[in-house]
Amino acid sequence: MGYNRKRNELLRELRYRAPESGRCWEESKNFVPGGLLSGARKMEPYPIYIDHGKGPYVWDIDGNRYIDNVMSFGVHLFGHNPGPIIKAARDQTERGVSYGAPHVAEVEYTRKLIECIPCAEQVMLCNSGTEATLLAWRLMRAATNKPKIAKFEGCYHGWHDYAQWSVSIDRENMGPPEQPNMTPDSAGMPDAVRDTMLILPFHEAAFSLIEENASDLAGVAIEPFVGTGTIPVSIEFLQRLREITEKHGLLLHFDEVITGFRVALGGYQEYTGIVPDVATYGKAIGGGFPVGAVACSRKLSEEARKADEGFFAAGTFSGNPMTLAAGGAAIDYMIKERHIYQDMMQNGEYLRDEFNLYAQSKGYPLSMTGLGSMFCVHALSETPKVPRDILNEKREITIDLQLHYRNNNLLIPWMHLAFFSSAHTREVIDQMLEGMKASLDGVMDWYN
Ligand code: PMP
Repeated sequence: MGYNRKRNELLRELRYRAPESGRCWEESKNFVPGGLLSGARKMEPYPIYIDHGKGPYVWDIDGNRYIDNVMSFGVHLFGHNPGPIIKAARDQTERGVSYGAPHVAEVEYTRKLIECIPCAEQVMLCNSGTEATLLAWRLMRAATNKPKIAKFEGCYHGWHDYAQWSVSIDRENMGPPEQPNMTPDSAGMPDAVRDTMLILPFHEAAFSLIEENASDLAGVAIEPFVGTGTIPVSIEFLQRLREITEKHGLLLHFDEVITGFRVALGGYQEYTGIVPDVATYGKAIGGGFPVGAVACSRKLSEEARKADEGFFAAGTFSGNPMTLAAGGAAIDYMIKERHIYQDMMQNGEYLRDEFNLYAQSKGYPLSMTGLGSMFCVHALSETPKVPRDILNEKREITIDLQLHYRNNNLLIPWMHLAFFSSAHTREVIDQMLEGMKASLDGVMDWYN
């Protein structure tokens, strides 16, 4: 049977299993542009609609159960609905869900963040990772009175107009490896923003670009673990970045929206021992509720406050009691059950080793990258080292792999890094591996 027939047959099977989701999808397209609230939720033949989740699993509205490796894109560190966090949130609903006024939990919550985050002496709260990077960059500009932020090609810092440049890379427009072009990732990005940003390469040339632009730069932002490819930045590169920013009086910003409280309690800073000036957080620190945070030194926040116009941050829902109740309970649990970080590191190594050994033994051009509970499958025999390596991927294989994952009851994000949680025990990881191996066999059968 040829490729097209096999593919169409599996698409038919997936539709057959999820008729209610199909109905929701058809309706949604009438109400929401493109039918989806976030591009990362895309699926073929259409997205499944979730009914509920528990531990490492979710169930769709047609009653199918999946091992969930989306984990709300990295929100859930303990799986769905962990008892102590749900209890804290439920208790808070009785006392009010939003005040727009100070409350005791914000003192307790920010103190906890500061105790865990190496670079933090002060913290500001907001409602998403996107807000956090927007706020961090405003803080950096205010504190230095300089206009520009440098960001790296391939790094995602949310969808605001300063951030969504040169994230996905395309061969035609990317420019030379030592000086990437600044390319918008969405229509509607204002050209005026170009003068406020500098795009850096994962290349030796980044250091000279920083030196040449130092007089205009407030600082340099980086995802120390690049989410789009799930590629770690080498420790040596990060160290050199730390040195060069210090030498020129520039601020170094680690975007820890994914890595914060996931790789280690103190995030990537604790894991590498390299401490930035500013760090941003989201996802895991809200215990499942929307959250963002910016951490920095006291000196830096004071410098920003002294800036000519004064420094202003706000937000109707910033530090709302629901997020702080659930997020505070989540952080308490992380502190108390700190062994989960080591367990997840070991389970992650096991998952990647088993996956890569299987792919190699079968001669499949597939490999898995990641660290701890974060992972990503690439249609490459060699794991990528920098975001541009991903251009060599056979994208159609990773796209088709999604269909086989679903067929094997695994929910793994579409072209995005995936997650497991502390609720994914070794037994569940073994079930994931079984489903992944069957999916690899299934997809490679289409290509042979
Ligand atoms: N920074 C990084 C490193 C991220 O991975 C993300 C989201 N995946 C964001 C910022 C934006 O966070 P949010 O989706 O909460 O706005």
